Amino acid sequence: MRHLDQLQIKILLVEDDEDDFFLFEDLLADFQSIQFDLDWADTYEKGLQAVQRCQHDIYVFDFRLGKRTGLDLLEEVVALGFRLPIILLTGQEDRETDLAAMAAGATDYLVKGTITSALLERSIRYAINHTRTLVALQEREEQYDLVAQACNDGLWDWNVQTHEVYYSPRWAAIIGHGEQALGRSIEEWFDRIHPEDNERFRADLREHCQRETTAFECQYRIQHQDQTYRWVSSRGMAVFGPQGQVLRIAGSQTDLTHHIALYDYLTGLPSRALFLDQLQRTLKRTQRQRNYLFAILFLDCDRFKLINDSLGHAIGDRLLVEVAKRLTAALRPGDVIARLGGDEFAILLENIPELSLAEQVASRLNRELEQAFELEGHTVYISASIGIALNSDPSQQPEDLLRDADNAMYRAKALGKSRYVVFEDTMRDRVQALLKLETDLRAAITNKEFQLYYQPIVSLATQDIASLEALIRWHHPERGLIPPNDFIPIAEETGLILNIGEWVLQEACRQLWDWQQTRPDLPPLSISVNLSRKQFSQPGLGQQIQSTLSEAGIHARQLKLEITETTIMENETMASELVNQLRALGLQLQIDDFGTGYSSLSFLHSFPLDTLKIDRSFIEGLVSDSEKSEIVRTMITLAHNLGMTAIAEGVETQEQLRWLQTHHCDCVQGYFLSKPLPANQIETLLATPNGMFANQLMATPA
Ligand code: C2E
Ligand code: MG
Ligand code: MG
Repeated sequence: MRHLDQLQIKILLVEDDEDDFFLFEDLLADFQSIQFDLDWADTYEKGLQAVQRCQHDIYVFDFRLGKRTGLDLLEEVVALGFRLPIILLTGQEDRETDLAAMAAGATDYLVKGTITSALLERSIRYAINHTRTLVALQEREEQYDLVAQACNDGLWDWNVQTHEVYYSPRWAAIIGHGEQALGRSIEEWFDRIHPEDNERFRADLREHCQRETTAFECQYRIQHQDQTYRWVSSRGMAVFGPQGQVLRIAGSQTDLTHHIALYDYLTGLPSRALFLDQLQRTLKRTQRQRNYLFAILFLDCDRFKLINDSLGHAIGDRLLVEVAKRLTAALRPGDVIARLGGDEFAILLENIPELSLAEQVASRLNRELEQAFELEGHTVYISASIGIALNSDPSQQPEDLLRDADNAMYRAKALGKSRYVVFEDTMRDRVQALLKLETDLRAAITNKEFQLYYQPIVSLATQDIASLEALIRWHHPERGLIPPNDFIPIAEETGLILNIGEWVLQEACRQLWDWQQTRPDLPPLSISVNLSRKQFSQPGLGQQIQSTLSEAGIHARQLKLEITETTIMENETMASELVNQLRALGLQLQIDDFGTGYSSLSFLHSFPLDTLKIDRSFIEGLVSDSEKSEIVRTMITLAHNLGMTAIAEGVETQEQLRWLQTHHCDCVQGYFLSKPLPANQIETLLATPNGMFANQLMATPA
């Protein structure tokens, strides 16, 4: 097609009426700015042949063409794939065909008898221009589609003004969707972003929209139709308006499933998949070289979660990067180190002479990690629990070896962290058992297998029950009664403790209310409930307790919370705020297991709690062990000097009780007075006239 400016155009008129042809010619004669050659086809068939030769710039079809019509011709031409500027002429009586003509692909239509020369000239100009634009656009679209298909990336185009997003078929396919199933809203995208990546994604986008980056780029996880998350990389660029406002952002999205499988995006270290792949190769070598010894170190950072939760993900990420650097620097060049996810790393030490070398490496790694990390103005300290596994038999699978090292790492954690443990076969069974316990524990909540026992805490002054400590019991369907020490640590580790703890709190309050209603004759009671480490650091704890109390109709002064000193120490910054908040509610706070942690006197000054519970380990042997009795005496004095009461835990004998009485301990708790009992037995005890513990207490001199 030639340019309009040259305006030497060739017109084809398909018209079966000779008079009308001359009329048309007359109209053209008056054209102002277009010079033309006019060709004439006087039948439908001749018209069709001429059109297919494509020698004209503009085609004008009359509606009436013998038995057929110009509309038929138009449709046939379009069906053959021609995109041409075609004007349809209709008679006065055929007006209703206008719409059909436009729908069929005519560029314009004109009604005979109303056509002036100027109108025709304008129409021809427009038709030629319009078609040219359309063709160009279509070619662009075809190119775009071709590129899109070839590059295997999803494409997106977000019109920020209209809030509409175009997602290409490939974009939809990456997340397992058909094109149709996906709407055009931005939520289709944002709602699928992994919660942990959401903030980072938005920050990257914001930075680009504020022109802080030249392009938007983010690697993140997006939810697939099958509910799993896939790693993708998105890139894009914004188009800015005159005021700097963002008009649209468009870009591509790449499926990283295969890239990311090999490298960790944060640290750049090999990922689990690559590590296992390497391990597989090393295992093959041991089949050829019988004495080939290698070790796997499974390393998990202690306290990482704490730092991540308190200082934020950004610092957590920085820490992981720094940890990766230090570990890499502390290894030999040939050793393989990978990030398995979270704060877990795996290391492959090839070709070592003996186990002791792996142990040396583990110690060295821990020494490196124990040096302070300076992160954006924060000084943080971590350590690592490391499990070591050696290759023992060549038929082992890479996953087995890694799991052995993982199990040994767990053992290291259990032994108090910041250490290494070498894997032994017996650990396998223990881990199996733990896994089973975890599964059962999940079911226990729904199956209501928990029960609270209550142990009296007796005031030595009044000889009455000062309070009852609620202690949880688990009725396991196969294993019978399981004591809390056997499952609370696992509940902690898995987070299940939050549900369990909430239940304990509700149940204790419910029981208290129940006793108040059914037994108004009983003295006013209070209950103490143990708070786990995780519960204590859970946001919104104050509110949760408050609403539990008001739902149960229990006064805050009837509830006491027991917190171990280690729990407070570990959360020192947030602890003081929380402690104040809980005390403001009117709750009493007690330090449990006092003496087992590492708290200093200054700590007790900054956390003025209500009660100090002296740990059972000090009461045991109290009478015979002069060192212990000295410690307990100091603890009691300390409590009193700080305005706290002292409770002795684990009182089992008459002698211990007598000693505590003599040394002005306020309250005692222990088997000597009563074991923890289910609610109904506590009722019986409470109903005993003349002081329930009179026998035990009377035998001792006042
Ligand atoms: P704890 O809070 O120090 O509770 C006292 C533990 O000492 C109880 O063990 C109790 O039965 C035991 N005890 C009391 N008097 C004596 C005695 O004279 N001799 C001996 N040998 N032991 C005595 P239990 O019930 O097995 O609970 C163990 C720990 O489990 C508790 O220590 C507490 O830390 C935790 N625990 C219990 N119930 C809960 C709960 O509902 N939530 C949380 N987070 N932890 C709980
Ligand atoms: Mg306790
Ligand atoms: Mg205790």
